[in-house]
Amino acid sequence: MSRIVIVGGGAAGMYAALIGAEKGHQIDLYEKNEKLGKKLYITGKGRCNLTNACDRETLLGSVISNPRFMYSSFYGHGNQDTMALFERIGLSIKTERGNRVFPASDKSSDVIKALERELKKNQVRIHLNTEIREIVVKEGRCVGIRTAGGENVPADACILATGGLSYRTTGSTGDGYRFAKAQGHSIVECIPSLVSLETEEDWPAKVQGLSLKNVELLVQKKNRILYRETGEMLFTDRGVSGPLILTASSVAGRDIMQKEVELLIDLKPALTHKQLDKRLIREFEEQKNRQFKNCLGNLFPNKLIPVMVEQSGIAPEKQVNLITKEERKRFAEQIKALCLHVKQLGGFKEAVITKGGVSTREVDPKTMESKLVEGLYFAGEILDVDAVTGGFNLQIAWSTAYAAASHMKQEEKMGYQIAIDGPAGAGKSTIAKLVAEKLDFVYVDTGALYRGLAVHFLKEGIDETDETALTKACEKARIDLAYENGIQQVLLNGENITSLLREERVGNLASRVSALQVVREKLLQTQREIAQKKNVVMDGRDIGTCVLPEAGVKIFLTASVETRAKRRYEQLTREGKQADLKKIEADIQERDHRDSHREIAPLKQAKDAVLLDSSDLTIPQVVERIIREKENASGN
Ligand SMILES: Cc1cc2nc3c(=O)[nH]c(=O)nc-3n(C[C@H](O)[C@H](O)[C@H](O)COP(=O)(O)OP(=O)(O)OC[C@H]3O[C@@H](n4cnc5c(N)ncnc54)[C@H](O)[C@@H]3O)c2cc1C
Repeated sequence: MSRIVIVGGGAAGMYAALIGAEKGHQIDLYEKNEKLGKKLYITGKGRCNLTNACDRETLLGSVISNPRFMYSSFYGHGNQDTMALFERIGLSIKTERGNRVFPASDKSSDVIKALERELKKNQVRIHLNTEIREIVVKEGRCVGIRTAGGENVPADACILATGGLSYRTTGSTGDGYRFAKAQGHSIVECIPSLVSLETEEDWPAKVQGLSLKNVELLVQKKNRILYRETGEMLFTDRGVSGPLILTASSVAGRDIMQKEVELLIDLKPALTHKQLDKRLIREFEEQKNRQFKNCLGNLFPNKLIPVMVEQSGIAPEKQVNLITKEERKRFAEQIKALCLHVKQLGGFKEAVITKGGVSTREVDPKTMESKLVEGLYFAGEILDVDAVTGGFNLQIAWSTAYAAASHMKQEEKMGYQIAIDGPAGAGKSTIAKLVAEKLDFVYVDTGALYRGLAVHFLKEGIDETDETALTKACEKARIDLAYENGIQQVLLNGENITSLLREERVGNLASRVSALQVVREKLLQTQREIAQKKNVVMDGRDIGTCVLPEAGVKIFLTASVETRAKRRYEQLTREGKQADLKKIEADIQERDHRDSHREIAPLKQAKDAVLLDSSDLTIPQVVERIIREKENASGN
């Protein structure tokens, strides 16, 4: 396990913290605000467009700056993985027009809550109101951070997820750029992006609030086309905005900074010049005795007419049948290319994102690790990567965070993990033991860990209904597994308590407390630590979904109720005990229902688990199937 500090509790920081903790690292997350995810809260107008359910090509195609840099991290953890992760942590999501993905509740706060809940569950230490001032580097290696209060925090690695420069009030004040620069990183000039444009002309103010749908926008500089698209735009008090303009600001942002960029708006993109001229002839013919300013109602929204008249140079009161052919042709040109000159980009205070940041040339695209400082990683908007709207910028944050947290250098060898979940009576422990034996893996009897903790509660005389006492007792307990001649031993604070585990009162208490959140959280870390150091086979109800979500092989082992009842019946009869097949069946059905509907750690098949129905298989056949899955997964 490594100790990792993450600077910035926004989208990227929270995601990296969760992934890092799930991998078994000790995570300290530092956020200077009084709460996590302030910017995430305002995303998607408070609904949080958290990703886009498009194909991989579209995903990459939506990245404007340095798309090639994103190739590995999108491939390693893309939009589908993000959606699966959010669903796994209990956030229902929905997909809307343009493949935009939102929480089903339409509340960005639910995204934050889901992440916070998981961080807590995974024992991430969250330090709010704590500003980081400096990254501490010794001999080319990041060894910690320093807080504004002067505290030095040692660490094996640090992830900088401090965001960009837009919407400063959410905490994005560019601190991370300064930290990176101090370590020799190049910072590509930061400019506002996905932002409105201010124009040289004043007339947009006269039509501010007017939105035009289905217009074609052409952005050009000295006849070089920078962007061309059909869609919706909006006039503002200083210029233009709306979806087309935001994208244009992203695509042509750097050219706009150097001036001389003009916008040509085609108000009638469905008509060719010839068709438009015909249309004008018809309109003018039908209204030949009217004044020019009064004959345009069929062509433009009312609010736009005075501007169109003013820009045409034709006298507003001119009678339509007196308009010359040249005037009409020029007017048609104007309709096809209403021109505006861009003065500048709107400011950072209203920009959705920052273009620019830590140069991608100095960061490993697979791991997000700095190429200059070992152990220093970057995630999210701090990097010189940005995309158009539609959930793509958050996907950049999630994917880069995942890459950084999952490739964090391990101090110890990472173990291979096989997770076997399934309903009671499916033969999980028998199968898991045999698989472990065949592969020379360690079988982790998770039930023994719960029994070990129960021994601790009994020794301390803890009242199981007193949550405070239980929490305190959990803090004092350290459960370890050791192996003597291949047989698992359970150590409680260093003492071997294996012989006590089979006592009935221990079993009963373990069964009752295993449903408690505080107990599950305590043992979650223990189980992960074991699984990180050794190659393990672990069985349970939520191993693949919660304890080892990154397991190399996940099996959901089941069998029909009838088969399981028959197996149990035969076992009891073999032991010379009385048994009633119908009653056993009913009991199994009831237990299945209870296990899959319990609030804490319900029985659920992980999305990426292989479903294995053992009803018609022998034990060796099931073992063989699992070993084959392992071989396929490891490519040997
Ligand atoms: C109005 C608005 C709407 C948006 N809507 C969407 C959308 O719907 N979909 C989408 O994909 N993208 C959207 N975005 C973009 C998206 O919000 C960002 O891409 C994303 O938040 C970047 O995540 P991040 O973690 O890199 O940075 P942030 O979310 O900005 O998080 C950085 C965190 O670091 C903290 N921090 C900074 N310096 C320090 C320090 N020295 N010490 C401690 N903490 C520090 C900050 O306080 C902040 O909490 C929107 C942006 C805005 C402004």
